[in-house]
Amino acid sequence: MTDRWTKIAPAAEALLAGDLIAFPTETVYGLGGDATRDESVASIFAAKGRPKFNPLILHVTDHSEAERFGDISAGLRSLAERFWPGPLTLVAPLRERAKVSPLASAGLDTIALRVPADSLARELLAEVKIPLAAPSANPSGKVSPTTADHVLAGLTGKIAGVLDGGPCPVGLESTIVGMDGETPVLLRPGGVAVEDLADALGRPLITHKGAINAPGQLSSHYAPDAPVRLNADAPDETEAYIGFGASPSGDINLSPTGDLIEAAANLFAALRDIDHFNKPIAVAPIPETGLGAAINDRLRRAAAPRS
Ligand code: AMP
Ligand code: MG
Repeated sequence: MTDRWTKIAPAAEALLAGDLIAFPTETVYGLGGDATRDESVASIFAAKGRPKFNPLILHVTDHSEAERFGDISAGLRSLAERFWPGPLTLVAPLRERAKVSPLASAGLDTIALRVPADSLARELLAEVKIPLAAPSANPSGKVSPTTADHVLAGLTGKIAGVLDGGPCPVGLESTIVGMDGETPVLLRPGGVAVEDLADALGRPLITHKGAINAPGQLSSHYAPDAPVRLNADAPDETEAYIGFGASPSGDINLSPTGDLIEAAANLFAALRDIDHFNKPIAVAPIPETGLGAAINDRLRRAAAPRS
């Protein structure tokens, strides 16, 4: 039930149907899904068994496509011009009405963007004409795959298929560069050497020691303004209620049928929309199995006291 393909057509068809596939890039194989569909992005986390919604890299065809999603400012532009397509990911401010699932950026107001160089990846992106959210195609906590066999060893049964492009030439993850104010900073070393980045920038690159990815920042974007009470079997009369499953249904229900992938797909919008009730918020208990762990992680952050 997980196919191996050497042509892009079946992979493109699966992606456009909302299914997940693995595809080669020059760094490692990616586990790709339609970044504009909440359910597809939620399925990526489910397939990997990730216990948290950390932000995913958006794979796009070229620089101008990347600009539709992120504002690639002066500091990052020289890097995009020099190293795209290639093993470089740029973290840029998310454009306001960018058509991308909030799960892909984990609710952050920045988005990680990459234009891969691998020819099959490029053909696939050109064919589907959608951005692909893609972490490495391995179960959470396992080593990144650099062959289709590695992918199948970890994800058979969890994805529709793998597009086999042979071994990945770089074999390392992409280098990630973000901005700290006006200054480009290295967030993760990878396939593009730091010396080459510094050369393109005309100055040394700062290695970020701060907390761009700290839980505090990750929690900020869609944390509701009102206080949040978790594991509430029912709301009291003052509260707005986020339900899960049949009863009580709630003002907003993450999944009336109790489907955790559907609940994950609806989570970020629910956290934003529940604030419109202008009431304290109560949230139904969510089982800690499957994607429930990541949902509960995010809910705990939303409920945590903030400064
Ligand atoms: P992977 O997809 O497994 O290669 O991991 C993606 C990496 O990109 C992780 O280390 C993320 O923390 C990082 N990343 C993705 N989006 C952002 C973002 N908006 N801000 C900072 N780091 C990001
Ligand atoms: Mg990984």
